[in-house]
Amino acid sequence: MEINPFFYFLDPNRRVYWLFIISSLIIGLIYLWLNPKTRKVNFSSKLWLHPSAVLDYVYFVFSSIIKIVLIVPIVIGATEVTFFVNNWLINQFGWIRIRSFSYTEIMILFTLSLFIFSDLTRYLLHRLLHSIPILWEFHKVHHSAKVLNPFTFYRVHPLENLLFGLRYSLTVGLVTGIFLYFFGARLGLIDIVGVNAIGFIFALIGSNLRHSHIHLSYPRFVEKLFISPYQHQIHHSKLHNNRNYGGFLAIWDLIFGSLTHSKQVKFIKLGIERAEMKNFAKFYQLLFYPFISILKKL
Ligand SMILES: [Zn+2]
Ligand SMILES: [Zn+2]
Repeated sequence: MEINPFFYFLDPNRRVYWLFIISSLIIGLIYLWLNPKTRKVNFSSKLWLHPSAVLDYVYFVFSSIIKIVLIVPIVIGATEVTFFVNNWLINQFGWIRIRSFSYTEIMILFTLSLFIFSDLTRYLLHRLLHSIPILWEFHKVHHSAKVLNPFTFYRVHPLENLLFGLRYSLTVGLVTGIFLYFFGARLGLIDIVGVNAIGFIFALIGSNLRHSHIHLSYPRFVEKLFISPYQHQIHHSKLHNNRNYGGFLAIWDLIFGSLTHSKQVKFIKLGIERAEMKNFAKFYQLLFYPFISILKKL
């Protein structure tokens, strides 16, 4: 495990992998070329050197270290969950092997299942972070950003990282365990440089623009399937943070009634309640304020 946060730029599992930064930059520049009015904001030093943005950069460096030292060692691995699920199924139902699928078919099914189920659990956990008051105190750290940039993605409290780490292990472990049970060790993932191919393509086509001031939206029917960057920016708005919880897919928001289209929201004011913003202005506040806030409420 690499402690140096700058290795994030070389790791295709990370949102800030150099190739994803470059592809987002290209898409962003095309957007700005087509929408000249939005250039001023996006090229402004007021945006990139805003105290909230500077805090994002500092927090990115320190939180990646905190994550590796504190969080990674306590999260159970997906491998442990995989073997637990596989053994449990064998004990309950005996040996079952499906042999009618080809290796390629299993690979496609496995890649799709992992992507879709993982996106569902991401949606559900994100929604819980908003609806359970104690969890919201921690998730406020992410929503306290006054301006958005790709590093805002990492403005997340370590406790939320812990929950997402557990979610990842349980999700990947459960899906892999079930596949292992039915198809045996003939499991393969369609990957690009070791990353689920579907996730890689989504990251390549501009996941970084979600945390930016590029208001890129998709046609309405596409926004029912995939969350556009502007749809996530709407989620960061004070008035609409109970909308668009989705990760990559918009179908969960559509099914569970939390989808808002880009066309429905013309103006967004980012952040949380005004009175609360001052509590998330410094590095130590991002780490400790949620605890203080919970204690005060008790
Ligand atoms: Zn949220
Ligand atoms: Zn966000």
